Amino acid sequence: MSEHVIETPKLHVIPTSDGGSFPVRRVYCIGRNFAAHAVEMGHDPDREPPFFFQKNPNNLDASGEFPYPPHTSDVHHEVELLVGLKSGGTNIALSDALKHVWGYGVSLDMTRRDLQGEMKKMGRPWEIGKAFERSGPVGPLLPVSDVGHPDQGRIALTVNGDLRQEGDLNQMIWKVPEMISYLSEYFELSAGDVIMAGTPSGVNAVEAGDTMEASIESVGVLTVKVV
Ligand code: MN
Repeated sequence: MSEHVIETPKLHVIPTSDGGSFPVRRVYCIGRNFAAHAVEMGHDPDREPPFFFQKNPNNLDASGEFPYPPHTSDVHHEVELLVGLKSGGTNIALSDALKHVWGYGVSLDMTRRDLQGEMKKMGRPWEIGKAFERSGPVGPLLPVSDVGHPDQGRIALTVNGDLRQEGDLNQMIWKVPEMISYLSEYFELSAGDVIMAGTPSGVNAVEAGDTMEASIESVGVLTVKVV
């Protein structure tokens, strides 16, 4: 085995509810997966092919704190179901898709909305608005053996106790098996890949000092302080 020529970058892991750790390989995030959110962002909610962007594995952060990021004055919360894969492949059939899921969690797709908006206007990629340090607060992943495959139930987010976002997982335009199957036609999925499954309407800005409480029925509650 030859030695690496630089210090080996750390494998990024997120916690699981049973005290283990889940190594993260890729982070796929779906856009506009709730009709009411598509409308609030100025888009037609009709079912068109799904689209995905990516965050970086080490953007996921289970610390419970979200440091207000630089170069923005409009950071938005997006509460999302997190799906963790234990296996993958290409061209995965819809009927096989859920066999690849290890578990589920609660996550936040934090977004520098002002920078994302500028990129959209110029037809440029979204990374600067989406894939920044600690932009993906997460709670522990719960194994399918505990939580099943949640496809309905309230998904909500409060800021300092005030309700901001509310929906139901059954309102997702693209369901978890469909996202897995679709992604696997374009990419080779693998153990350690996670999917952030889209946000209901009500996205809005947070400020330093705010406390966000993200909840998904039957999955859990994630509390994150903006610092
Ligand atoms: Mn999102």
